[in-house]
Amino acid sequence: MQIIDTDVCVVGAGPGGVAAALKLSYLNIPTVLVDKATFPRDKVCGDAISGKVTMLLNRLDPKILERMELNAEALNPVWGIEFVSPNGDRFDLPFKMDYDEKQEKAPGYTMKRLHFDHFLVQEVNRRTNIQFLENTSIKNFQKTAHGYSISDDKKNVEINTKLLIMANGAQSTFSRKEGGLVKANKHHAGGLRAYYKNINPLHPKRFIELHYLEGITPGYFWIFPLTNNLSNVGLGLRTDIIKKRKINLNKAFNEAIEQHPLLSQRFKDAELQGSVQGYGLPLGSQNRKISGDHYMLVGDAGYLIDPLTGEGIGNAFYSGFIAAEQAAKCLEAKNFTSEYMIAYDHRVKRVLGKEMKLSYQLQQILRSHSLANWLGKTISNNPKLIQLMSSMYSDLDLRKKLVNPGFWLKYLFR
Ligand SMILES: Cc1cc2nc3c(=O)[nH]c(=O)nc-3n(C[C@H](O)[C@H](O)[C@H](O)COP(=O)(O)OP(=O)(O)OC[C@H]3O[C@@H](n4cnc5c(N)ncnc54)[C@H](O)[C@@H]3O)c2cc1C
Repeated sequence: MQIIDTDVCVVGAGPGGVAAALKLSYLNIPTVLVDKATFPRDKVCGDAISGKVTMLLNRLDPKILERMELNAEALNPVWGIEFVSPNGDRFDLPFKMDYDEKQEKAPGYTMKRLHFDHFLVQEVNRRTNIQFLENTSIKNFQKTAHGYSISDDKKNVEINTKLLIMANGAQSTFSRKEGGLVKANKHHAGGLRAYYKNINPLHPKRFIELHYLEGITPGYFWIFPLTNNLSNVGLGLRTDIIKKRKINLNKAFNEAIEQHPLLSQRFKDAELQGSVQGYGLPLGSQNRKISGDHYMLVGDAGYLIDPLTGEGIGNAFYSGFIAAEQAAKCLEAKNFTSEYMIAYDHRVKRVLGKEMKLSYQLQQILRSHSLANWLGKTISNNPKLIQLMSSMYSDLDLRKKLVNPGFWLKYLFR
């Protein structure tokens, strides 16, 4: 058995783990990064890479973003979102009102996670101070006097580390057993994803589409165009609502594609590529402790997915960067206690908390499909409102207006 001693070990090389390892690498702190998979590997996801991700990659090193943008074959630029209400009222919300596709860089992208995560892992492989072990599934976690001793299921490797950064995703047993995180159906969603070729037509500006369907709100059905006439298609909804309304997610997904009056027309000649796959989304709408003696939980392992949009890659990146900075402080202070580590929780809350709270409030509003219909009708008929809402993407204080009844009353009485 190979024995490795390190100050920091990151478990999981998805976006959260890679963000942590890369940030540590740029801080000149050597890291061991472990993943059970061999890359490239798939991950069930909508494949939407938000502006948060591009901004954070750019902040770490603009060259990384430049290299990502070289993947033209796999990278589809996204300039906005189309929203469709249960009644079929629709409106486009561009990320920016006046944009020039030829002159500017897109604010967001879609890219299959198969390719995006492989790209991130290649960035890891460029760094000489990250030791990356693939095909290594960590199963055993032993607390020691100095931190943790962990080993894989085949007993090929033992890693002794002062600090563990756990970024092993939504099904992390460490998060449940060591971190004490409990899955609450109200703060968890179920999601399905499939790839389809030849959906016709796609949105004319290739915006990503969110369709709020009757009985499925506050969840939504999505069509996210990728490259080569391929689209990522899916459906997600809060787990407690799935149970309460006795919804069979697979059935609801197929009904949308085969029977929905507008969608079924567009899927008439579409071909399913592979199978429909499901996965859980631990939502960040509940305040949880995500660190302890000698460890921090990052990304889905810390239950940090946006409760309204289901976006988790950006939050995994944020928490990975914050964990790396906290790790640097721990190493300098030689302090890995839960009391010292709590600064990580506080910072994650400071950075993501307000947005998460607002998303949860909006998600609660959208539970009622009549309200979703009213919003669809009101917004789709009002270009000035669309203009205002477009600036809300980048302005959280402005976005807060959306949960203020006074803001909407103004439009109700117009
Ligand atoms: C249906 C669906 C649609 C979604 N759509 C979007 C979207 O469009 N945009 C968006 O931003 N987010 C979306 N999300 C959320 C997003 O997928 C996650 O938030 C994101 O992948 C979190 O990244 P992560 O690094 O925390 O975890 P993951 O991406 O899950 O990475 C975890 C890594 O840990 C590894 N691992 C697991 N266990 C072990 C072990 N024991 N030992 C070693 N390695 C291990 C895994 O192999 C994996 O590589 C969606 C999620 C679902 C389910």
